[in-house]
Amino acid sequence: MFMRNRDNFKRFHVLTLMSVASIILIFSLGYLFYNTLSKNLLGSSRQFLAKQVEIASNEVQRRFNTLYEDLTYYTTRWEGYDEVSGAEKIQSSRTRQLLNSYGDLVDTLFVKRGEEIWAFNLKDNNYFEQIKIDQPKSFNDPKRFIKVQSHLDPITVIASVNLDGFLGHYTSNHYLGDGGYKFYLYGENAYPLGENERTVELSLSPALWKEMQNEYLGGLRGVYEGDILKYQQDGTAARLKAIVAQYPFNLFPLEGKFAIVFAQDQSIIISRLYNTYFLLFVGLFTLLILVIYLLIKHGISIDERHIALEKQSQQINRLFEQQTMLLQETNGFVYYHDASGKVSNVSENVTNVLGFTKEEFLENNKSQVVEKDLQKLQEKAKKALDEKWDYLSFEVSFLKKDGAIIRTKNFERLFYDQEGKFVSSVGICTDITEKYLAERELIKSENRLRSVLNSLPDIIFIYDNQGVYLDYYVQESDMLISPPELSLGKHIRDIIPPPYGEKMESALLRAAKTGKVQTEQMTLDLPSGKKFLEIRFFKLDEERMISVGRDVTEQKLWEKGLKEAKEVAEGANRAKSEFLASMSHEIRTPMNGLLGMIGLLEHTKMDDEQQSIVKVIKDSGESLLVIIKDILDYSKIEEGKLELELSSSKFREELNKVINIFSGMVVGKELSLNLDIAPTIPQWLILDNEKLSQILFNIIGNAVKFTPKGGDVSIKVSGEPILDKNFMLYFNVKDTGVGIPKSKIDQLINPFTQTGRGTAEEKSGSGLGLAIANKLIELMGGSLQIESEVGKGSEFSFTVFARISDSEEKVGKDDYEKYAKEEYKLSHISDKFPKEILLAEDNDINLKFMKLLMKQLGYSVDTVSTGEEAVKAVQKKRYDMIFMDYQMPVMDGLEASREIKKMKEGKYIRIIGLSANVFKEDIERAYEAGMDDYLTKPIKIQDVVMKIKESSGMSV
Ligand code: ADP
Repeated sequence: MFMRNRDNFKRFHVLTLMSVASIILIFSLGYLFYNTLSKNLLGSSRQFLAKQVEIASNEVQRRFNTLYEDLTYYTTRWEGYDEVSGAEKIQSSRTRQLLNSYGDLVDTLFVKRGEEIWAFNLKDNNYFEQIKIDQPKSFNDPKRFIKVQSHLDPITVIASVNLDGFLGHYTSNHYLGDGGYKFYLYGENAYPLGENERTVELSLSPALWKEMQNEYLGGLRGVYEGDILKYQQDGTAARLKAIVAQYPFNLFPLEGKFAIVFAQDQSIIISRLYNTYFLLFVGLFTLLILVIYLLIKHGISIDERHIALEKQSQQINRLFEQQTMLLQETNGFVYYHDASGKVSNVSENVTNVLGFTKEEFLENNKSQVVEKDLQKLQEKAKKALDEKWDYLSFEVSFLKKDGAIIRTKNFERLFYDQEGKFVSSVGICTDITEKYLAERELIKSENRLRSVLNSLPDIIFIYDNQGVYLDYYVQESDMLISPPELSLGKHIRDIIPPPYGEKMESALLRAAKTGKVQTEQMTLDLPSGKKFLEIRFFKLDEERMISVGRDVTEQKLWEKGLKEAKEVAEGANRAKSEFLASMSHEIRTPMNGLLGMIGLLEHTKMDDEQQSIVKVIKDSGESLLVIIKDILDYSKIEEGKLELELSSSKFREELNKVINIFSGMVVGKELSLNLDIAPTIPQWLILDNEKLSQILFNIIGNAVKFTPKGGDVSIKVSGEPILDKNFMLYFNVKDTGVGIPKSKIDQLINPFTQTGRGTAEEKSGSGLGLAIANKLIELMGGSLQIESEVGKGSEFSFTVFARISDSEEKVGKDDYEKYAKEEYKLSHISDKFPKEILLAEDNDINLKFMKLLMKQLGYSVDTVSTGEEAVKAVQKKRYDMIFMDYQMPVMDGLEASREIKKMKEGKYIRIIGLSANVFKEDIERAYEAGMDDYLTKPIKIQDVVMKIKESSGMSV
């Protein structure tokens, strides 16, 4: 800035100096010119004066000579007369003629003869006077009288001349113009001539005067520079510089030298020149000023242009520097456009970006831009130039030399001159292919997401991580509190009224924090009635959350109905079981009596027909007794009265006993019966043998019963140790029998259910076998699965929980704790992760097992056997973790979790679900209900350890 100002100042200074110099130059030239011109003029004036004075002098002299000649002749005319008197008459005409001819010179003519003197003259009125002069007259004035003496007679003619008048007359013919003055010299004086006679005086310096005297007396002409004194009316005199020219001559017979002097006032000569010259000068000067003005103006405009250019170049430099820096980091190059819009230059790194050399790019850059982009670009560039944009940015695809296409972002700075004409531009082109592709991919996936979301019937909102609405996808807005577009930009709490607003916000924040789905429910009182809305919050990406809202009104109502129905059914079931138990008990007693009586009757003497009748009665009685026993068993289980009776036994032997029972039947039906027991199964196991036999008896019995002649029944038993002394047994009974229709499979575990084929085999059963087996399996900590295909066969699998034992021993149910005491030190993690743990499990065995497991880890846990109790426990005590079974009476694990999470105390308790099922829906349901994690049964100690560590924020 400072530099520029100093430069400007310098430039301005030079310009001013130049102007002043040229003015001085013009002035001095003018002066020189003027001087020369005036000198010239003076010179020519001198010549002119010298010439004029010469002519005038010669004329005077000639005239005077003529007069003298005429006088001489005239004198001769008087010869021969003795006296003048008398002759004057004769001579009068001649005399008159002479006087007439020289009136300007001669005023009186004297004729003298001896003493006789006659005077002749012409008066003003042309009256001729001739007088005889009586007194003697001397004609001594040498300047006044011309005397001509006759040689023969004593006659003398004397002319009295008026020299002043004569000279004045003759010089008056020579016009000298303004400032011209005339004199004549005689003797030592200069006499003014003509009209100036009395007012001017020739005033020369004594030296000059002397020089002139010498010259004119010596007969030399001369031109001098002297002064003239001009007297004003008030008596003062003005001194005028003048050119003075003299020309000497003789006026014979007058004595002495004469000279005519012409003088010219120099100032007048010069003033004439001055007038013309001044006009010329003024004209020239004006021209000069005009030129200087134009010069300065041009200079200033050049200067401004210079400054503008400098500014532009600074900008370009800055831009260039920035871009070079940028270019070092990115993949790009710089290019320049000239005024015609052609790319005029490009940086070397174009080769890195496009593969073309600099020259190739400069030649062909237009054809390297992808056609459709080029058109758009040209339109945009035209608009930019029309509207005088300073900057232009655009994206185009370039065809690289190797044929690949890259996407580039371009940024141009446009420059214009003062008239607004485009001058040049500098641009930077950067390869943004990666970003471009990523963006395109993002747009595509956004579009995919959008179309998916648009096709969902649910109410979908997108939020930022704080809960501010960003977007929505709503098909029907019946379920909305306000039109969806109004919510954009607002917070979820501002839209959803309390108390749900806070609930939704905290669910959203929770989902954002944990990354897990959070589900909330909301009741709305809409004009169409009360509606239930279930809203799930989950993460859409790092910045956004999404909520999916669904109308669950129908489901809610259905669930409610179902729950009520279930409760009613359960109540009825219990009553029924109680009734059945007491009834079968009641029936058994008389039946036993009846069968005893039949036994007695058998041994009495009867004919064949009677015997066969008694046999039918006996068989029916026995099968009735079996059925009654089954009913009694089932009722007991239903009532919850059945308990496990554990004992240690050799597992294989027990199993073989059961299989053996079927050997007779198998042989009769020509079936092959295979038993495969895995070698890993320990010899001694502690379990309820009787109940396991009953389960196997029912299941294998069915397989044998429903498999036609020649079929196969195979039994596989395997297992794995869980924890140190626990063992999970897996049973699989497979037959090639008639199979079970798919629709019936699920119902078979319900009492009194059969497939309805109505075959003899079916009719022999009561439909209670599988129901009892299922209940017993559950009692023993396992679960039953049935798979079957009609005509091909069925497969029954179940698990049973046992303990490993070293020898035959009777084990009471309290003995678990004894084992626990011995083993809990194994992995004692409670010191490291102290936790209050609640266990919710209705199955006694499982509960005991879990308790034992927890003890082993160093935790003494609280236990409950229903969901309701779990909720109550949480109200009373602060827990860190709950292991919660999914299925429990009264209130199941899911609902209990939901309730607990709603409570203030329960919000941060970590709930781990326990389930035998590992289906996806079950896992989802667990999360929706507020469970934080889940474990599948059979539970392994490592899994429990892992969950505890996880809940302490430790990774495993
Ligand atoms: P039941 O005492 O009548 O046999 P279950 O509960 O044991 O009662 O069996 C119920 C029904 O299930 C049977 O009547 C039969 O239709 C069907 N069923 C059970 N096991 C099999 C099997 N292995 N193959 C074909 N059907 C079977």
